[in-house]
Amino acid sequence: MKIEAKDLCKTYGGGENRVVALNRASLAIGPGDFLSIMGPSGSGKSTLLHLLSGLDRPSAGSVLYDGVNISALPDKALSAFRRRRIGFIFQQFHLLPVLTARENILMPLLLDKQQPNEEYLGQLAGLLGIKERLGHLPHELSGGQQQRVAIARALIARPEVVFADEPTGNLDSRSGGEVMELLRAVNRELGRAVVVITHDSRIAAMARRRLTIVDGVLSEVAQA
Ligand code: ADP
Repeated sequence: MKIEAKDLCKTYGGGENRVVALNRASLAIGPGDFLSIMGPSGSGKSTLLHLLSGLDRPSAGSVLYDGVNISALPDKALSAFRRRRIGFIFQQFHLLPVLTARENILMPLLLDKQQPNEEYLGQLAGLLGIKERLGHLPHELSGGQQQRVAIARALIARPEVVFADEPTGNLDSRSGGEVMELLRAVNRELGRAVVVITHDSRIAAMARRRLTIVDGVLSEVAQA
């Protein structure tokens, strides 16, 4: 799987209210990549994430997955594409409070009418250290554990890439570091590409490739 963003632009509003949220961003993401995108509030991080993951369409430019321009897919095809090939992790976890950890993790499969694979669920729960917590409700779990459940949910449909939007933003620094370590393990042991959006330079530094975004302009930080 190769993701190629070419000259992505996004503008909001018009006339005096026109905002250029993203200005000709180009980026290639390969199968084993682990990258962070860092920038201050309002710099265009969420906009870029939404375009890369097909949650929104660019004003100009394209996003290609293995050469297929997802921005040109009809809505229904794009939703199915996202369900099967992209995993999402959010700052606020977004677990359903009345469902157990196990039920939350399996939800994307149910929505896609797929049978759960118990062996893979066990592997994920083992990797993420939540095997003993699968029968618990979210409110019975710590923030770090809830985020681990959310990571398992993002991976259950075996997507090729996982986008994490400020995944440590709601956690103390220790739990945040642990979540980044787990994302590193997901990248290394499961071979998934991982893209982490953050405004925290310590979190950003844990990724293999680092990009920054300032006023909608994306650039890659040269590796030492
Ligand atoms: P970040 O995620 O880095 O905080 P965003 O991508 O959310 O930044 O926003 C980038 C810029 O685009 C900001 O100036 C923001 O106010 C503007 N923006 C984002 N979404 C909208 C929208 N729906 N309508 C108008 N302006 C928007």
